[in-house]
Amino acid sequence: MKKKSTHQNLVLIQHPLVKRDITILRDKNTSTEMFRAAVTRISNVLAVEISTAFSLTKSKVKTPLELTEGYKLKHEVVLIPVLRAGLGMVEGFLQLIPDAKLGHVGLERNEATLQPMSYYLKTPKNLGKSEVILLDPMLATGGSASAAIDFLKKRKAKNIIFACLLVSPEGVEKLFYEHPDVIIFSSALDRQLNKNGYILPGLGDAGDRTFGTL
Ligand code: URA
Repeated sequence: MKKKSTHQNLVLIQHPLVKRDITILRDKNTSTEMFRAAVTRISNVLAVEISTAFSLTKSKVKTPLELTEGYKLKHEVVLIPVLRAGLGMVEGFLQLIPDAKLGHVGLERNEATLQPMSYYLKTPKNLGKSEVILLDPMLATGGSASAAIDFLKKRKAKNIIFACLLVSPEGVEKLFYEHPDVIIFSSALDRQLNKNGYILPGLGDAGDRTFGTL
């Protein structure tokens, strides 16, 4: 169901249902309702694939009949959607990891320095001991993803995974050079960026399509 791509830091999800859903997302005639539902379904699969590597601790559980062995996730999971498009992926992850904590990061470009700066950053404590999953549907130039990871590392996050729907080769390479420890899980690797930084063939503006602000 998943495959390492030619990029060492990228895991591509190869599943017929995901390929079907990516096609729904790409279609410019897909309604907001159908778009959100497909994002949630793909996020479910991403959550399953990402959590395959999570550690467990053993714990006892009483069934109605007897005491037996069970399991708990060893580390807390923290989801960090990048505002605003990343919010669309939250529900799909929470359906699989309902006790995950949530942080938020909002980024904008400083027009003087052209560097991404955070206008909002709220995260739970103990990021250093948690599995941190950054959610952003589109890895385009990689500039804001890399900046978001910088902010999380400044808050001591160590195990960071980047979850997205579409990536560009340029974005994957930038993240590899700037954050080689961060593995990207994506449902598709697209061809290239256009001159405005949009992914081709892509799906357009993920935020607008999720929130119906076209
Ligand atoms: N952000 C989007 O929403 N779409 C793109 O194609 C690139 C960045």
